[in-house]
Amino acid sequence: MDLTIEGKAYINGSFESCCIGVSQGKICAIKKTLKGDEHLSFGKKLILPAGIDLHVHFRDPGFVHKEDFSTGSKAAAFGGITCVYDMPNTKPQTNTVRTILEKTNIAKKKSFVDFGIYAAATDNNGPYINEMSKHCSGFKIFLGSTTNSLHLSGQKLKETVHAVSQTNKITLVHAENEPCLEKHKTTEHSLKDHLLCRPSECEEQAIKDVLDASRGFSSRIHICHLSSCDGFELLRKKPKNVSVGVTPHHLFFDVNNINSEQSLYKVNPPVRSHFDRETLWYGVKNDVIDVLESDHAPHTLDEKKKDFNIVPSGVPGVETMYPLFLAEVKKGNLSFNQLISLLCERPAEIMDIPKGKIEVGRDADFIIIDYKETTTVKSKNLHSKCGWSPFEGMPAIFPTAVFMRGEKLIEEQNILVKQGFGKFIEE
Ligand SMILES: [Zn+2]
Repeated sequence: MDLTIEGKAYINGSFESCCIGVSQGKICAIKKTLKGDEHLSFGKKLILPAGIDLHVHFRDPGFVHKEDFSTGSKAAAFGGITCVYDMPNTKPQTNTVRTILEKTNIAKKKSFVDFGIYAAATDNNGPYINEMSKHCSGFKIFLGSTTNSLHLSGQKLKETVHAVSQTNKITLVHAENEPCLEKHKTTEHSLKDHLLCRPSECEEQAIKDVLDASRGFSSRIHICHLSSCDGFELLRKKPKNVSVGVTPHHLFFDVNNINSEQSLYKVNPPVRSHFDRETLWYGVKNDVIDVLESDHAPHTLDEKKKDFNIVPSGVPGVETMYPLFLAEVKKGNLSFNQLISLLCERPAEIMDIPKGKIEVGRDADFIIIDYKETTTVKSKNLHSKCGWSPFEGMPAIFPTAVFMRGEKLIEEQNILVKQGFGKFIEE
């Protein structure tokens, strides 16, 4: 046994004082006492499974002034996330075998954490879906246009879902209906305007279209970043193969609780009403929502502070997601079981990867937290290249150490592995 870690670990839904044995990056034993080459004891600190983020935009290649795979994955690591899945709206867009391989090579050189790469399914690359599926982790469909997106028209939805279902890969959908967005388009000066431009009915229509198009297929479909009550109602009794994610920003913000610097909070889909936000919390607490996903979409402060109408949509969030929700658990707004399911177990299950649980045979990916120590989010302590956070000042519990495949990735403020330690996750 290479390593044994002792502490109060989250195992099978509850905390147990135990030792976790690690061999060749995997958990090989969980017992009251164990001996290994190296023994680390964390006393009363908690050992939790590390998080998995199904939705990040690390901007590499093409927009590396905002983020790159090194800074993005470092931010993930410090936030207790040891596995990320990167979206295809980079430059060049990830929509061919060549661009998938190019991005994978960049990430292999730069990433501190394990990663997957999504390809875009667009109007033009249908015939290549099978070939691309051999190299990517899943397919993203943008039904509505968003910043630098790759749009798929509604008419092509069914054949695309069909084509992806033949490949055994997951389909992830940005669910806003394009004709609906077109219809509501006007000049925007505030978050309320942005919401009027992208009303709930656009999300509702897109989700309806996806559920219709996927009827009869058993392949996995993931609805990204659900934001509205109308959309939620459609997913209350969703089929087993359909999963749904919600972001931290849609759970914490609405058009009424952001008064200053509104352009910073411009995101797609938009932050909506207090009622929509309450509905998402209800979904998170009642097993309707499957996962929390950061939709980490960094832009520089310069870019975000321009005139509201031209400001790009998106906020950073990969480093703060797990810490913010640990603070929510402490406040009593969520249970540990719910949080670990949303951030670790369900994402691992959806992607079918051996992570997300402290269990023999899985990757030894853990975070160590001091549950007594709540701090606050401070941009100056974060690692994203963009240098700011919409969650500034909010309570958070950051991990004091992070392990990935049995290696100590983070200790206090230091990263202990080299760029390129992260591996491409093969399914
Ligand atoms: Zn996104």
